[in-house]
Amino acid sequence: MANIKLYDAVRNHDFAENTCFLCGARTGDDDDSKEHVFPKWLLHHFGLWNKRLTLINGTEIPYRMLVIPCCTQCNNTHLSQIENTIRTAFLAGASALRGVDREVLMLWILKIFFGLLYREIFLPMERRDPAAGSIVTTEDMEQYQLLHYILQASRIPIRFSQLESDIPASLFIFELKEPANPNLRFDYKDDVAVNTLYLRMGKVGILAAFDMGAQTFEGSHFFSKYQNHQLHPLQFEELGANLFMKAKKFNRIPKAMIAESPSGIDFQVAPIAGLSTRPVFEKWSSEEMAEMLMFFLGYLREAVMPVEDRLASWLHREDGSFWHMDINVPPWSITSEAS
Ligand SMILES: [Zn+2]
Repeated sequence: MANIKLYDAVRNHDFAENTCFLCGARTGDDDDSKEHVFPKWLLHHFGLWNKRLTLINGTEIPYRMLVIPCCTQCNNTHLSQIENTIRTAFLAGASALRGVDREVLMLWILKIFFGLLYREIFLPMERRDPAAGSIVTTEDMEQYQLLHYILQASRIPIRFSQLESDIPASLFIFELKEPANPNLRFDYKDDVAVNTLYLRMGKVGILAAFDMGAQTFEGSHFFSKYQNHQLHPLQFEELGANLFMKAKKFNRIPKAMIAESPSGIDFQVAPIAGLSTRPVFEKWSSEEMAEMLMFFLGYLREAVMPVEDRLASWLHREDGSFWHMDINVPPWSITSEAS
């Protein structure tokens, strides 16, 4: 009988190279006991096996080495089911992925976000000075306790309930134009301070905030305008900057009530706004958004804010209509237009 209780890795600081990240079972040393943070099919599809990802401390690691300890049951039964569902849908395109059960998609993407953090517990902050500690400490992990519980819906029945969102996360899928150059087809960004993730995979773009669904309502309103267009990667980056910025301005700490019973676990998210009348998201200045756009687009200040206090937009023309951007136009030759 499988363990259907929640595994409390975070509270118990139970992280080890031979402990399943998902259920806490001891693992072996074989390949079946390692889960790739970015799934193998994705690495092969985008030629990422030997490419490198930059970690929180600025060091780089090849994607193929991003593995976390995982028991055979979690790996070959629970996670591989999710993997097969997502891979099949991904290959069929953005609209097929939108048709996937949103909880399954959330678990798939949350495993990447959480898995990266998990890997970083075992990597030294300073390669030349192991005594300086790891990139992510066991104390750092405490802020991800609820996310680790949510992730366990991959292996045990968890019933999520809340008023504001169907799932305890905000998740948006976009159809993208794919660059001809295979080296430009994949991009990953996250912000572990505010639990956001940006994933560009060829013709599919996913934005996620692991915020118990706080951005779901307002995001659906804002992002839906762009969900029936094929977006240029630049346009998707601009949307990513919006989601990350909003997460920075989220001024609540979401809470959940968790009740375990023999039939499964009830995970009830408390109303996001709570009893406070303050806005759930604070306003941001164009200065702050300029910084965020520079981070996402890699552009200079003049490009993202050509006129003081007026941000450029790659989504709209001057008249407010959607900008149908040609994928073959190299991004560096696109002149910005103020929105
Ligand atoms: Zn396991």
